[in-house]
Amino acid sequence: MSELPSTALVTGGSRGIGEACAKRLAKDGFEVIITYVSRPDGADKVCAEIEAAGGKARSFKLDSSDRDAVAAFFKDEIKGKVKLDVLVNNAGITRDGLLVRMKDEDWDKVLDINLTGAFTCLREAGKIMMKQRYGRIINISSVVGQAGNAGQANYVSAKAGLIGLTKASAIELASRGVTVNAVAPGFIETDMTAELPEKVVAQMMENIPLKKLGKSEDIANAVSFLASEDSGYITGQTLAVNGGMYM
Ligand code: NAP
Repeated sequence: MSELPSTALVTGGSRGIGEACAKRLAKDGFEVIITYVSRPDGADKVCAEIEAAGGKARSFKLDSSDRDAVAAFFKDEIKGKVKLDVLVNNAGITRDGLLVRMKDEDWDKVLDINLTGAFTCLREAGKIMMKQRYGRIINISSVVGQAGNAGQANYVSAKAGLIGLTKASAIELASRGVTVNAVAPGFIETDMTAELPEKVVAQMMENIPLKKLGKSEDIANAVSFLASEDSGYITGQTLAVNGGMYM
């Protein structure tokens, strides 16, 4: 087992925060596997850039909300094939709308991908990491999972759920040397926030003591630490990377 390459799996690594995490973990010395769902070109580009910088990366199309596909992926591509030291549960979407008008399908989709998808990957990775008696699992939550936000009941619930999942699984996996932590980004410049109206961004800025939006690399820096051996006495925690907003 120890001769297999030390590997980090980043879900939703084809752009944004996942891309930055994948690149940083490759730089840290991990072989990287990224998943994507709709943008093979983005995933190919991320892998090519990692390889060009001297790292190793592969991508797989994998919808995190498809339980059977996730189980098959871990069975066929991970178990016994790599040494899975790190899982970053990053894949996520928003489908915003006011609570009283929120459609069932928008509730279900956001919970299925952001929370159930993370659970399914964590469960599969947990089995492998418990056996190898080492692992680092990092769930990407959100500042809104800590503070709440109007128009995002589905997303807030999923992201708050991830914090609970982090705490519960940290306790269960601790005795086997597996840590589970969450990172709660504030407002980070990615496709997810690109379409916010200027007025909303200006309002957000008022609440950010550092007076700027974050970059994907700011999140990757925190993930890099939590993925390292140096973070070994930290588990069940949520690290806020949000420019100083107090939660
Ligand atoms: P993004 O730019 O929209 O990228 C989302 C990523 O998730 C893409 O790689 C996408 O793949 C992938 N993805 C979407 N649905 C998927 C599915 N069903 N299965 C697998 N992968 C899927 O988002 P981001 O801003 O980087 O956000 C990354 C994570 O950080 C999310 O969990 C988000 O909730 C969280 N977050 C973001 C912010 C922010 O301000 N940006 C703040 C707090 C938390 P494709 O490219 O193939 O579509």
